[in-house]
Amino acid sequence: MAEEAEKEVTTFEDFKLNKQLLNAIEEAGYEKPTPIQLQSIPQIMAGHDILGIAQTGTGKTAAYLLPILMKIKYAQGNNPRALILAPTRELAMQIEESISLLGKYTDIRYTAIYGGLGPKTQIEIINNGLDIIVATPKRLMELYLKGELILKELKTLVLDEADKMMDMGFMPQIRQILEVIPRKRQNLLFSATMHDKVITLSEEFLEFPTRIEVTQQATPVETVSQVLYQVPNLRTKIAMLEYLIQDKETFNRVIIFTRSKKNAESVAKFLERREYGEVRAIHGNKGQNTRINSMEDFKSGNVRFLVATDVAARGIDVTMVSHVINFDVPFVYEDYVHRIGRTGRAENAGAAITFATEPEMYHIQSIEKLIRMKIPVELMPTEVEVFETPFEERQEIAREIDHQKRRDNPDFKGAFHEKKPFPKSRDKKGKGDPKASFWQKTKKKGSKKR
Ligand code: AMP
Repeated sequence: MAEEAEKEVTTFEDFKLNKQLLNAIEEAGYEKPTPIQLQSIPQIMAGHDILGIAQTGTGKTAAYLLPILMKIKYAQGNNPRALILAPTRELAMQIEESISLLGKYTDIRYTAIYGGLGPKTQIEIINNGLDIIVATPKRLMELYLKGELILKELKTLVLDEADKMMDMGFMPQIRQILEVIPRKRQNLLFSATMHDKVITLSEEFLEFPTRIEVTQQATPVETVSQVLYQVPNLRTKIAMLEYLIQDKETFNRVIIFTRSKKNAESVAKFLERREYGEVRAIHGNKGQNTRINSMEDFKSGNVRFLVATDVAARGIDVTMVSHVINFDVPFVYEDYVHRIGRTGRAENAGAAITFATEPEMYHIQSIEKLIRMKIPVELMPTEVEVFETPFEERQEIAREIDHQKRRDNPDFKGAFHEKKPFPKSRDKKGKGDPKASFWQKTKKKGSKKR
């Protein structure tokens, strides 16, 4: 069953989501569903209980939110129809953010309630009427017992990061919650691991669930040699790319991955203008035939560069490339594994090369957790010019870092990010001291006045 659905459905349109959701998905920059979304969304929409084994970074939040938003459709009545339980307020806040992103064009009312704050504002929001409530278990029970929350209209219950909830000792609260909500409902449980307590919970909680597991790839990462360069901005990334590809013999068949269509176009145009060799770009805006032709040209060896977004490259078999260059760090962490698995010449030093700006380093940590290894870091060679970060990009970077800090610590108040100096290698080979903090050594040119 699941397999059939998987084969048929390949795009968000195929899920028969409504226009409001499809518009929000497009605006979020999601080109195609991730594997967990492909497998879960049709099952959830068909009303099945789900046991989803997936980590953060796989797109699991949208996997359950999209069908929930689809089911709830619009604001109605006063009481929540979907409850999403999360172990921590950080996760609750992230889920709330995802609802705001994906539910943008609907009038669906939602909020996240959690401890650490007085309940007054939360109660006010609840009293104004809600369709979806995100909550940590304790605060939910507190407000329920005070009579502030009516849960009898719940149709869907999600337990997100169930393993963490068990580790944090929330089983008693979850049992209490299960007692007070309607028996007839759809249950969705997501967990990164399936340890004993999660198995017990899922047996108590789910009815004939569809089990969906996003298997971590048998990581080819150990056999691929990887390098990470910290690069301060877009312009310097281009300079770094240009530096690397001077070596035509080594970098003879290169896939360059970018995070957005826009960056894919910019990089491809740059390479074309400078006449570094034949270039093809594939991304969501290119028709299927153009994409296939580009891939064929690239495979034939007549094309030196293929610039691609992750979704455009997914499922297409191109191996034996000399290098994969991650011009941007992927948002969906598993894509890192997919990307670097494309290098066919594992013995070739630096076969997978990643450029990361400071905010992208935040995601590198999660990727390293997923691949269970550190990506070796090298300093940028001194020959590469470090450009100043233009004002707008600087603002964007500062905003992203603030956002990340707030995500890790909701009490974080700093509105402006402290600028760190930019490091560079001292020797010609670009080796430097990989253990040195990247932001330790000042490079006057790159450190800008405020
Ligand atoms: P999650 O695993 O839910 O924490 O999601 C990880 C990241 O992937 C989030 O930043 C999402 O916004 C992003 N994401 C989710 N689905 C997609 C998709 N289909 N395409 C691209 N990015 C996605």
